[in-house]
Amino acid sequence: MLTLFFVSTGAQAQFGKKLLKKGNIDAAKKVTKAATLSDSDMAALSLQSVQWMDENNPIAEVGTSYGDRLAKLVDGLENEDGLQLNFKVYEVVDVNAFATPDGSVRVMAGLMDIMTDAELLSVIGHEIGHVKLGHSKKRYQSAYTISAAKDVAMANTGAGKVLADDQIGGFVENVLNAQFSQSNESASDEYGFKLLVAHGLDYHGMEGAFQKLADLSGDGGKGALTSSHPGSAKRATRAKEWADKEDAKN
Ligand SMILES: [Zn+2]
Repeated sequence: MLTLFFVSTGAQAQFGKKLLKKGNIDAAKKVTKAATLSDSDMAALSLQSVQWMDENNPIAEVGTSYGDRLAKLVDGLENEDGLQLNFKVYEVVDVNAFATPDGSVRVMAGLMDIMTDAELLSVIGHEIGHVKLGHSKKRYQSAYTISAAKDVAMANTGAGKVLADDQIGGFVENVLNAQFSQSNESASDEYGFKLLVAHGLDYHGMEGAFQKLADLSGDGGKGALTSSHPGSAKRATRAKEWADKEDAKN
């Protein structure tokens, strides 16, 4: 899922506040036994996680200004190369977005507030890239591996669920705290850019999106929360090069 676009907005951020419970991480670290998720388990767990997040974050439905803006933006992106996508806005202040292996894309209102439509689309394309390139699955797998009380959770799990209801919050937190590698981020940037081009969308937004993130985090985008990522400023430069190249073709 996410994190590239995570810029902390403080403890009041509803999204962060609900998900960050230190105790869960410590407990999870005690479990070292590896466990492999089957594809169907992965799909079920991904869906279960998204449902949990949807229930624990305020959603800006269609009919609200945020909901309508996102729906308009992603019109035509319902299916990406075989992956069924669904989109929602979380009405929270975080400057963030993420996508999960089941094809759920969630965009935070804080991100929508600072970005233009084209910039937002480039972020969404990037997040879809993480899913399509298998990065998100890997992240779920590692979060599952460290998920505490796994055996207990399995024993108490109802039909169609991989983790018990009271375990899913801790699991989601482990997913959100994991970071993508620099190479994964770069690959997702490229995927996102190509997605925009393929859909005939404005591909000039990626440069601006990264520039804004760089400005927010300072130090060329290498703030504490984005330390595993190539600097945002550097990525803005690269996105501009891609756009220039694409412009030259037309
Ligand atoms: Zn990313």
